[in-house]
Amino acid sequence: MERLQKVIAAAGFASRRKAEELILQGQVKVNGKVVKELGVKVSPSDRVEVTGIPVEREEPIYFMLYKPRGVISSVSDDKGRKVVTDFFHEYKQRIYPVGRLDYDTSGLLLLTNDGEFANLLMHPKNEIEKVYVAKIKGIPPREKIRSLEKGIRLEDGKTAPAKAKVLSIDKKKQTAIVELIIHEGRNRQVRRMFEAIGHPVLKLKRERYGLLTLQGLSVGDARELSPHEVKQLR
Ligand code: URA
Repeated sequence: MERLQKVIAAAGFASRRKAEELILQGQVKVNGKVVKELGVKVSPSDRVEVTGIPVEREEPIYFMLYKPRGVISSVSDDKGRKVVTDFFHEYKQRIYPVGRLDYDTSGLLLLTNDGEFANLLMHPKNEIEKVYVAKIKGIPPREKIRSLEKGIRLEDGKTAPAKAKVLSIDKKKQTAIVELIIHEGRNRQVRRMFEAIGHPVLKLKRERYGLLTLQGLSVGDARELSPHEVKQLR
C-alpha cells in the first residue's frame, strides 16, 4: 500500500505537493470515487484517476546511459534525430531522461519512469554534485579558474560556488582540459560559464552524477541502477 500522493507523483503527473493540492481540490478519484483527504493509501489493484486521466502504475525502474554526442535528451524528436530512449527499446516501460545533456555533450544521463524521483533530482534546491570535463579553447589563467569557482554572473543570475581544476594543457593547439564540479543544473550552464570567461567549450562530457560514475560503460552503453544507488540519490 502506498500513499495516494506518492502514487500520483511517481506516475509523473505532478510533484508530491502538487498531488496533495489536486487531492484537496477533489480532482483525484480512487476506484471511481473522489478522495479529498490526504493520507489515503492505495494498493496496486486500486484504479487511480487524476482529472479523469487514469494513472498508469508501473514498477519504477532506473537507468544510467553513457550518452554519446549527437543524441537528443528527449523521448522523441520531430526532426527524426536519435534520442536517448532509442537505447532502451528492449524495455517495455516508458522511461524519460532526468534533466538533459546537450545534443553535443556526452556522458552520464539518468533515465527513469519514476516522476517523483526525476522531480526531486531536477529541483533547483537539489545539491547533487555533477562533474564535467571540458575541452576548452585557449589556456585559462588562474584568476579565470578562480572566477569559475567563486561564481559567474550569467543572464539568469550568478552561479553557485563550484570547483574547477585544469587537468592538462596543450600549448601547441592552445586548448585545455578542465574539470568543473557544479551542484546546479541550469540550461547549458557549463558551456555558458566557460563562454563567460572567454574560453568556449570545444567538447563536453559529464563524468559523474553524485556517486555514480561511468565506470565499466562504453559510449552508448546503459545499465540499471541498483536499489542502493537509487537510495543514495534520493
Ligand atoms: N552544461 C552544459 O553546458 N551542457 C550540458 O549538456 C550539461 C551541462
